[in-house]
This record gives sequence, C-alpha cells and structure tokens, in this order.
Amino acid sequence: MATYNTVQRESLLSFFRNHCQTAMTVPQIYEKMVCEETDSVPGESTIYRLVKRLADEGVLTRRVDVGSRQYIYQLAAGEACHCKVRMRCKSCGKIIELQNDSSHKLLGDLLEKESFSADHEITITGICGDCK
Ligand SMILES: [Zn+2]
Ligand SMILES: [Zn+2]
Repeated sequence: MATYNTVQRESLLSFFRNHCQTAMTVPQIYEKMVCEETDSVPGESTIYRLVKRLADEGVLTRRVDVGSRQYIYQLAAGEACHCKVRMRCKSCGKIIELQNDSSHKLLGDLLEKESFSADHEITITGICGDCK
C-alpha cells in the first residue's frame, strides 16, 4: 500500500515542518497530531516506523531525552519548514517576506528563552523604505 504510506509520511512531515522548533517523543507527536486534528493521523506504531525511517534518511534528527530517556525527534537543520516572517508596510501595504532559513532562525531565537509556542507565521508591521 504505497499510496497509503505516502499520505501518512507527508502528513507527518508537514507536522514536523509546522513544529520545527520542538523535539518530541512519538507519544507526544501522536497526541499533538490528534489534538490538532491533522488529516490522516497515523497510528502510534506507524509513527514509530516512519520517524525511524525519516531519521535514517537525515530528514529528522533523533536524540535521547535526558529526562525521560526516550528518543525525541525534530526536523533536521536545513530542512525547509513552515516558518514565515513577513514585514508589512502600514502605509503602502507592501509585504516583504524573509527567506525561510532567516525566518526559522529568527523564530528560533525568539522562542529559545521562553517556552512559548508561537505560530510559525508572524507578520511585523511598520513603514517600508519607500514610504519613509
Ligand atoms: Zn510602504
Ligand atoms: Zn522553522
């Protein structure tokens, strides 16, 4: 059932791209996916299989959580994620989008010190160079 697997894999990958700043155990992944009502949530055993494969492929990083001694998985650095930072000019409405890696780093820096789970899309409003 190749198609079935692809759908589950894509839905899991998309989930990781949405939560690129967070490392999670498989039960945490499952719980969060169900909670967010992600389309076609794979079962826990399928998630175990998929994250292992994705970690082998280098798409995810896997490390042992010191506290729980369980494997925690996170989107690997350099993988495209859904982080998006935009600057919107209040005067002319122009929107400037930062590159994905800059957006990711900016959001990562912002969230690093606080355990705050922000949206992965933020818009900064201000006045652009042309309107100054
Ligand atoms: Zn402007
Ligand atoms: Zn990101």
